[in-house]
Amino acid sequence: MYRIPNIKNRRLQDPHVVILGAGASIAACRIDKNGKSVPTLSNIHKVLGMKDMLSGYGFSKEALENFELLFSNINGKPKWIGLQNYLENEVRNYFKKLELPNEPTIYDYLILSLTEKDAIVTFNWDPFLMQAYRRNLSVGNLPQLIFPHGNVGVGLCYDCKVKGYADCLCPNCFKELSDMKLLFPVHQKNYYDGEIIQNEWTEAKKVLSTAAGVTIFGYSAPETDQEAYNLLKDSYRISNIETIAPFSIINLKAAEKEQKNKWADIYDRHMMTFHETFYESLLWLAPRVSLEYLFDAILQQQPRAYVKSFQDFKTLEELQKFVGTITEYDMAI
Ligand SMILES: [Zn+2]
Repeated sequence: MYRIPNIKNRRLQDPHVVILGAGASIAACRIDKNGKSVPTLSNIHKVLGMKDMLSGYGFSKEALENFELLFSNINGKPKWIGLQNYLENEVRNYFKKLELPNEPTIYDYLILSLTEKDAIVTFNWDPFLMQAYRRNLSVGNLPQLIFPHGNVGVGLCYDCKVKGYADCLCPNCFKELSDMKLLFPVHQKNYYDGEIIQNEWTEAKKVLSTAAGVTIFGYSAPETDQEAYNLLKDSYRISNIETIAPFSIINLKAAEKEQKNKWADIYDRHMMTFHETFYESLLWLAPRVSLEYLFDAILQQQPRAYVKSFQDFKTLEELQKFVGTITEYDMAI
């Protein structure tokens, strides 16, 4: 028997959880406001122009092609500690400078397509999601953001246990917030550090274990991330809702087969949809009410029309104004 969605005062309480990988940031902003491109974990050293420098260290050809492999090889070895620190700093500084363009991006739409009961779990280090969140804050009723690999856009006060924007002051004690650490691509990641990363995982498990819908956007769940992949799957299984909950994958056509196989044991094939772009997803078609829309159709047998689908807005103001028209009535199941 599957679980029935939790509905209170005609409102769905269960979260829609969106999981983001590098593909989502690239779809949102391939080239940033200042012409910088967004690296993937495998080509980061090339984008940062460090390949020639690294080839002087005598790494294998294979390692020089793939930053994940290179970093895994040097990680934690005393001989490479200087180089490791250097790479970590360079990567952080590069990501910190990335900036969203002024026009609405997919991350603006994504944030505004969800509400405060929902959550976005991102494995990306770039600050785009935080920037999108910040500039849409005035709209209100926004989803929770969770960063299990750390993020350059997040600042922390360890004394007050507060999470905020990087380079800002703690709203509590007014001390400068510390950088959130970044978990680099190594096989043995420390998800149980007793601090912030463990806390992010606690939040991720909490939302997944009560989710009534999951969207996996541009997240390949790479080899080095077996532990994350298992944690995500085991947490969602607890929700026990797969036979009626939508499970959507947004990824490149070339990744379709691999992605479908990768998640096959946690979705029901009748509820699985694969999309090549965000524009085809339920989040675009029925923003802020994606799950309500679906449950009306399958549980109440009262399908709604897509009257408030997103459109391609030219400015952020237009997008935000539109989201303001998705009213209480639309929100109730
Ligand atoms: Zn503080």
